Amino acid sequence: MSTHNPVQGVSNELLGEGVDVDALRAKYKAERDRRIRPDGAAQYQPATGSFGYYAVDPYTERADREPLTDAVEVLVIGGGFGGLVTGARLRQAGIEDIRMMDEAGDFGGTWYWNRYPGIRCDIESYVYLPLLEEVGGMPSERYAPGEEIRQHAVAIARTFDLYRDAVFHTRVTNLMWDEDAVEWVVETDRGDRMRARQVITSSGTLTQPKLPGIPGIDSFEGHTFHTSRWDYSYTGGDQFGNLNKLADKKVAVVGTGATGIQVIPMVARDAEQLLVFQRTPSSVDVRDNRPTDPEWAASLQPGWQQERMENFLAQVSGEPVEQDLIQDGWTSTAQLQRKVVSGAVDTSVSPEERERIDELVDFRKMNSIRARVDEVVKDPATAQLLKPWYRYMCKRPTFSDFYLEAFNRPNVTLVDTADFGGITRMTENSIVVGDAEYEVDCVIFATGFEVGVSGVTSGAMPVTGRGGRTLLEAWGRGPRTLHGFYSHGFPNLFHLGSLQNANSVNFVHILMEQANHIAAVITKGREVGADFIEPAAEAEDQWCRTIQELSPNNRKFQAECTPGYYNREGNPPPVSFSYGPGPVAFHRLLKKWRREEIQDVLAVKERQRA
Ligand code: NDP
Repeated sequence: MSTHNPVQGVSNELLGEGVDVDALRAKYKAERDRRIRPDGAAQYQPATGSFGYYAVDPYTERADREPLTDAVEVLVIGGGFGGLVTGARLRQAGIEDIRMMDEAGDFGGTWYWNRYPGIRCDIESYVYLPLLEEVGGMPSERYAPGEEIRQHAVAIARTFDLYRDAVFHTRVTNLMWDEDAVEWVVETDRGDRMRARQVITSSGTLTQPKLPGIPGIDSFEGHTFHTSRWDYSYTGGDQFGNLNKLADKKVAVVGTGATGIQVIPMVARDAEQLLVFQRTPSSVDVRDNRPTDPEWAASLQPGWQQERMENFLAQVSGEPVEQDLIQDGWTSTAQLQRKVVSGAVDTSVSPEERERIDELVDFRKMNSIRARVDEVVKDPATAQLLKPWYRYMCKRPTFSDFYLEAFNRPNVTLVDTADFGGITRMTENSIVVGDAEYEVDCVIFATGFEVGVSGVTSGAMPVTGRGGRTLLEAWGRGPRTLHGFYSHGFPNLFHLGSLQNANSVNFVHILMEQANHIAAVITKGREVGADFIEPAAEAEDQWCRTIQELSPNNRKFQAECTPGYYNREGNPPPVSFSYGPGPVAFHRLLKKWRREEIQDVLAVKERQRA
């Protein structure tokens, strides 16, 4: 079998060609040291308090409704792709009584909130948009616009009749297990006190907008918003541009991560002046977006999407494939991604040799990224500032054929803040960096999201299980689950997300597998008449040990990286929360478990058994 492996067959001499290893190591270390801040993750603040308007839904008016007091069979908390696919699979399994619930005004999750100009998926849409074959339709482009993705989420809800009984603009404030009734009592911020036999949480991992704790940020009197709450009433236009109200405005964009890279070229086109406040440059590789070829789309055979998704996942997880079906910036750098995303390890070479090859491949990749900056950006000083000096997976890689080009426009200025750890302060009408002051009309924060904060882990959604024990107590020393899905003492409660299971850059695929698994377990429980679904304490212990023992040893790599949310701003956790052998192996393990051990979590109450 021929395998696609970017390193096999390449001589070490060639890998090392043109790479000054010692100089690059020294440069990366110096840049990391320049960027590290003693306050780490504490430099950020949630977008609440006087900035509470960031949390307001600008897209859908909140409608009054009576509090709910009814009971449903399944409550799904979260109407993003994770919740939607779970709802769809449960419907397919014949479950009628499903209530979807979300804090947003409609389905879509990330794609509901994020509607900034230029928004697109950065994973190929044919493997990113779930259930394309079941729902019908084909993305218009290889990397589809955000609005199209949001509408696909709505189409999933319509196809599987998930609007029936759905409630929006509703946040769960309390979940309490009622032992006698064998169901959850659910309280919300709308005064609801309803009941659900099964509760599934899919509330996302990058959802709460965060702002830098810049001194004086509250005193700014101009206009300001976070990219995930784009204010089109101020800018004019829509996701595709024409931000005509910015024509006489001096606009600041703070942040140059995956969001900033998409937003900046759009604002550059329409603002009178754009100041880009950068702290760490992203790696910006070729995007090569293009319209979907109708002939190709017509030629696809049933089952094509699952095959393509699995092909993508296998490649970025280090598993052999016969052919690269995707051939883009993600699959061509698969080897480098395993520095942070777990996966299969090539044991044909020693760990030292593997690390040597990985580092050389990394240096070459980053050299090409830096060379691209010189090719595109005309002003040499600006080009210098836009070059990233760190290993490829220290930050989420980005792709754009417009971002670097934007800095050739006369109305665009790059302001580097790295020497000062970011913006120094803000005044009522300006941003100050060191001694330099920049007056602006509007500040747009492309400063990202709190990481891994779901209501369950933050305590915003308190959960009280059997015997009055809270989930936060049970997880006091870290999450404790079987396979990431459920915990002992918390019957009929399922989690989708990234804790104690597998992870990948195409997180929607991960969510789909989780949805399939949860739906299969619930369906089996119905078939055999189980009262509740809950792992035994020993099974949970064993899984926690497995996660720990197989945790990939990438702490050194992470610690040497430039700070960012990937390494908790320079303080990486001691062990990974993911299944070390990677997502493909994890999905294999789940499949086997469903065949052989599923009955272990299906319980029947004693009194009903009698
Ligand atoms: P990030 O956290 O990646 O970026 C935040 C940016 O704000 C960084 O450039 C950061 O600089 C900068 N910043 C923070 N504080 C300051 C400060 N005090 N002064 C100056 N600059 C500051 O957030 P994003 O929203 O860009 O991306 C988050 C994630 O969302 C992505 O990694 C990706 O997973 C996802 N995403 C996916 C997209 C898709 O198409 N699928 C599109 C957009 C986002 P520094 O790097 O120095 O910390």
